[in-house]
Amino acid sequence: MNLLRADLNFHPMTTTTTITRFAPSPTGHLHIGGARTALLCWAFAKQTGIGGGRFLLRIEDTDQKRSSESSTKGILEDLAWLGITWDDGPELEFNGQTIGGDTRSVGPYYQAQRIDLYNDAINRLIEEDKAYPAFETPEELEAKRKEAIAAKIGYKYDRAALQISKEERTKRLAAGESHVVRFKMPDEPITVEDQLLGEVTIKPEEFDDFIIRKRDGFPTYHLAVTVDDALMGVTHVLRGQEHLINTPRHVALQTALGYDHPVYAHMPLIFNPDGSKMSKRDKDKAAKKACKDAGHESSPIEALDDATYTEWLKNKTRQLESDTLIALAKHLNIVLPEIDVEDFRRAGYLPEALTNYLALLGWNPKTKNEDGTDLERFDMDYLASHFSIAGMGKGQSKFDRIKLLSFNGDAIAALTDEEFASRWHQWATHYDTALAERFSQQDMVSLAPAVKTRCKTLADGRGVIGFAFIADDAIVYDGKAVHKALIKGERKGLELLKAFRDELAEFDDFTPDAIEAKVSAFAESKEVGMGKIAQPLRVAVTGAGVSPSLGQTLAILGKDAVLARIDGCIESVHADSGKE
Ligand code: GLU
Repeated sequence: MNLLRADLNFHPMTTTTTITRFAPSPTGHLHIGGARTALLCWAFAKQTGIGGGRFLLRIEDTDQKRSSESSTKGILEDLAWLGITWDDGPELEFNGQTIGGDTRSVGPYYQAQRIDLYNDAINRLIEEDKAYPAFETPEELEAKRKEAIAAKIGYKYDRAALQISKEERTKRLAAGESHVVRFKMPDEPITVEDQLLGEVTIKPEEFDDFIIRKRDGFPTYHLAVTVDDALMGVTHVLRGQEHLINTPRHVALQTALGYDHPVYAHMPLIFNPDGSKMSKRDKDKAAKKACKDAGHESSPIEALDDATYTEWLKNKTRQLESDTLIALAKHLNIVLPEIDVEDFRRAGYLPEALTNYLALLGWNPKTKNEDGTDLERFDMDYLASHFSIAGMGKGQSKFDRIKLLSFNGDAIAALTDEEFASRWHQWATHYDTALAERFSQQDMVSLAPAVKTRCKTLADGRGVIGFAFIADDAIVYDGKAVHKALIKGERKGLELLKAFRDELAEFDDFTPDAIEAKVSAFAESKEVGMGKIAQPLRVAVTGAGVSPSLGQTLAILGKDAVLARIDGCIESVHADSGKE
């Protein structure tokens, strides 16, 4: 391990560079709230600081049981996909670009590789009598907690370990007795100067001597985050309000270790429109409801055993693995609410639409468009050059899916055909391999004009050309479209379709242009408008009245399928007439 030993007395705050950081715990996918935090930290670093700020990424993996390499990889890739690139941090190759690295030599950026640095800080605190070992077993502590609850007094660690004499402590440590290290929390109020919330003062009664090193030798989050923010020179901590409760502990640790205090801003959490917190559990909640509604008493899918299924269904807080949930949703034919960045990627959102919307969830540009409306649409460059903490919102952020969808639809419509095809193909390669195999990126360029305007997400594109994936004899005909194109007006449409079918049987050049020319010549020979044959044909081969251009639609299917579908359609119209 290449561990760079940093000087614990190093005073990073003397530097004028603004350094923000995003510090995810790799225990799952990147939540949309985490992405917003990262985005705003990135934006702040980009436009402040003399000589430019820096945005740092640190992986907080001290909870070894819950952390995984695959989560880390997923988080790094989600950030890179969003365009939130970091100056300092783990290195990632993404789309031919190298992101991160350790040019300032303050790494490593994985906390599990920095244990010696944390121990240096902990030992120093012990030496200076600001921290102490405590030997109570978890069972003893639990009994004390229960006593406090029974007596209706708030539980607080009673500092019993401080009563142990120095000699006895030394003896017990030498004997290797299992222990934690606790920080001696000062008995005085602690004030956090929050850039959004103002002064937040917390009384000493609210805190006890919290643990800074666990029984397993790993530091707790509080200790690691304090040491890292200082040694990595972080000047500004922008994070979610769920961490506000932790900040006084960090401030106390900073004082005890002689570090400067970074500037803090705690952002409001993101809520669903119904006021509930937007949480990863929402996906499980939706799937549980669908299972109950469908009356599934045992697991409906192979990937999930019955015992786990039953337990999950009963227990409100139980969550399934992401892949299992996806399989379940597919089986139940439901759409799960998108919560993690990965969910939005899978659903076919574009990163520029997502970052634009996310930025607005925490920041107001307070600028008008030329027509006097509020500026809402902007790109990453605009965000990076205009962002300020003063423009950040203090109130609840509500996640408006309809608004995001409209941002996304507009972003898709604004792409050139080539860009659209490239994004769509890349998306399909990840999330719809059948689509990617059926259509090359070049095919998608020619499909783009028809598909782009009809989809709000890349996943919607499948709907527009879904007819290509249905077996020839399994087309479901839209009754209204059939009536309008084939039956109405004394079955003229049906007659034209039959006549054209006979001509097509002799025709072999199934390219879009040749087909269009053929249809046009046919219409001319019959002295009818082109639509009079185009619509019956379109309905016959797709089942519906809308599809990409007729030439493309027929070319996608190929001659055999087209003839089979026309025959099937004619047959079904006759069969229906027989019933009348
Ligand atoms: N690792 C923490 C988390 O994922 C973030 C810590 C921080 O921002 O200080 O919630």
